[in-house]
Amino acid sequence: MSTIRQAIITLLKDQEFSARELSPIIGIREKEVYEHLAHIARSAAVKGKLKIQPAVCRDCGFEFRKRERLTPPGRCFHCRSESIIPPKFLIRE
Ligand SMILES: [Zn+2]
Repeated sequence: MSTIRQAIITLLKDQEFSARELSPIIGIREKEVYEHLAHIARSAAVKGKLKIQPAVCRDCGFEFRKRERLTPPGRCFHCRSESIIPPKFLIRE
């Protein structure tokens, strides 16, 4: 496993972070954090332990619980707002 993924796992075992928060800590772009998270979620070491605090619409409060992708939607299905609080991730044993 790459050291970047190992660093993300170590951080997420300690507290929850969004990809945007992890980006400057790890020193990679937010988009790349999501790519690593997708691999981490499927890895044997983490499978089933990655907890996701779903993305939430700032305007109507809708929670995107059923979303399969880790990235937040571009806009809310309900009120069409583009103001979306991104999901947060945590690894729990
Ligand atoms: Zn909304």
